[in-house]
Amino acid sequence: MTQTSEPAISDREFYTAQLAGGIDRFFGERRPDCPWCGSRRLKVEVRSRELFQRKPGKFTLERCLTCGHVFQNPRLTGEGLNFYYRDFYDGRGAAQADEMSSYGSPANIARAELVKRHAGPDGPRSWLDIGTGWGYFAKHAADVLPDTVFDGLDQGSGVDRALERGWLAHAYRENSFPELAEELRGRYDVISMHHYLEHTTDPRAELAAAAKALEPGALLEIEMPDIECALRHVFRSWWIPYFQPQHLNFPTVGNLLAALVEHGFRPLEVQQAEAHQPAELLMVAVFLMTTLAPDPSHPWLPAESPQWRRKVNELGWAKVFPKLINPAIKADALICRGVHKLLDHGNAYRIVAVREEGKK
Ligand SMILES: [Zn+2]
Repeated sequence: MTQTSEPAISDREFYTAQLAGGIDRFFGERRPDCPWCGSRRLKVEVRSRELFQRKPGKFTLERCLTCGHVFQNPRLTGEGLNFYYRDFYDGRGAAQADEMSSYGSPANIARAELVKRHAGPDGPRSWLDIGTGWGYFAKHAADVLPDTVFDGLDQGSGVDRALERGWLAHAYRENSFPELAEELRGRYDVISMHHYLEHTTDPRAELAAAAKALEPGALLEIEMPDIECALRHVFRSWWIPYFQPQHLNFPTVGNLLAALVEHGFRPLEVQQAEAHQPAELLMVAVFLMTTLAPDPSHPWLPAESPQWRRKVNELGWAKVFPKLINPAIKADALICRGVHKLLDHGNAYRIVAVREEGKK
């Protein structure tokens, strides 16, 4: 790090002030019913910490025993979400978020190919990627769809960088998608939401917005964690798709398909096991390091950290982590093959649906 200490000091002041009052205020009331179907038959799915940056807090996901929906309960308030998102994709976390996103090429290509199969011989001309992050989807998808113009929407600074890098033709950053939907009506042949809906407070409102923005015949592609994947029993709170505290809602594939139909879409293809992304053990290796060798310079951790903590952090990431990477990647590839052969559900599902004529 060659930066001056000034931003670090202001970061520290910010987090110290935020944490001084305790973190209870970041959470709303626990709700007694399922936000998807209203059932009161709820069961704790998992309790987890924030495993990437080790910001303080403990988060609970609950499962609805009636419809299978999993959701964060109690849910973070707007202030809480701001606290945990801060410095994750932007600020201190920007370089890492950019690098992590750059590895998404195989999944991004699979996403583009799925839509290409359903888009007709000329392919889509215009595509809006919602929750586009650092814009790598557009970069990678351009190999499959060289004539498509990609725009992106995201609240983080990555979307501006993607514009500068020439991967996006237009970037929307100031508004949420539901706020923009009316203005976007008819502008896109495809809208995609890759690992976006699970971050939203109301996934159905996002589907309603997509129905508003897309004309009949236009396509909607959704990919999100598959909460019915059996691997969750193996990895428990360290299962990467839980991703606390950012993931708020996990509709099951059945629930999401029904909701798409309710909002005027006809599902064309659903990928389940084949949408699995090999990442479980690699992320376990990362979480081992963030747990055993956390970065003592994080401004949300105590300011005075003993020298040995710094040493453990340095040695852990320089000497131990590199040794874990290859075995983890190999094991993840084996798991991926097993998922394809043995399981109905991988760690993600992918749906492409068409906006239907005359439906609300
Ligand atoms: Zn339910």
